[in-house]
Amino acid sequence: MITDREAPLPRPITLVTGGSRGIGAATALRLARDGHDVALSYVRDKDAAERTAEAVRAQGARCAVLRADTGQEADIERMFDEVVAELGPLTGLVNNAGVTAPLGPLADATTEDLRRVVDVNVLGVLLCCRRAARDMGARGEGSIVNLSSAAATLGGPGDYVHYAASKAAVDTLTLGLAKELGPVGVRVNAVAPGIIDTEIHAASGAPDRAAQAAPGIPLRRPGTAEEVAAAIAWLLSADAAYATGTVVRVAGGR
Ligand code: NAP
Repeated sequence: MITDREAPLPRPITLVTGGSRGIGAATALRLARDGHDVALSYVRDKDAAERTAEAVRAQGARCAVLRADTGQEADIERMFDEVVAELGPLTGLVNNAGVTAPLGPLADATTEDLRRVVDVNVLGVLLCCRRAARDMGARGEGSIVNLSSAAATLGGPGDYVHYAASKAAVDTLTLGLAKELGPVGVRVNAVAPGIIDTEIHAASGAPDRAAQAAPGIPLRRPGTAEEVAAAIAWLLSADAAYATGTVVRVAGGR
């Protein structure tokens, strides 16, 4: 018979938005290795999401896969409902889903691209944070990690000032929400990666951007998705129990 003293601790249950590829996939895998059950969302690439889910389950974790566009409020609410129904109440949320747009000066950006970046990177993160604030706040426990960017403090001139501005908004909402939710036991932090070798650069029209940027990075190389995942995993862990409202920069010195 298992007594209370011998009962295993409940596994953390963490949702990683945009967990199918890149930093999100590396985070899902790292969290599974650290003992989390994981939900991961995607918007287009179902095959990539299923491959990541298989790798997560191979670590002994439960894994839910959901299609949800974090630029859409109805998708977000449904995603949270389905995760809770399948895995149980969330203890962690990683707001990782994010988009860029074609690189170039603001003068050349289309209104459609600006709107999409703001919808996914700002409104989507706010809506996910709002739902987590309601759910985790009511339960009196939880941890949120938002994906910012080193661009938030560099400005992204000539490339993507709109993206940089969207990530600066993430930094500010992280700080404010941490102060709102600290008293009810929910921590809110962010990770600001520098140039990381993922497919996001191809989407902005510069597939070789990570390699080409190396000479301008003090550590002389782009980062890996796993190096960012390690910081996210730390912020979600008990080792970071006194860290809230902080932005951890993982940017090779940029
Ligand atoms: P990525 O390789 O392009 O992967 C993006 C992930 O987000 C994919 O899983 C994608 O799903 C998902 N996604 C995109 N739009 C979505 C939406 N509207 N709703 C739901 N999911 C969506 O990107 P990454 O490089 O790993 O970047 C992850 C995060 O880190 C982003 O917030 C990004 O801004 C930030 N970041 C990245 C870098 C970098 O250099 N890579 C630097 C700083 C910050 P599908 O597979 O279905 O498309």
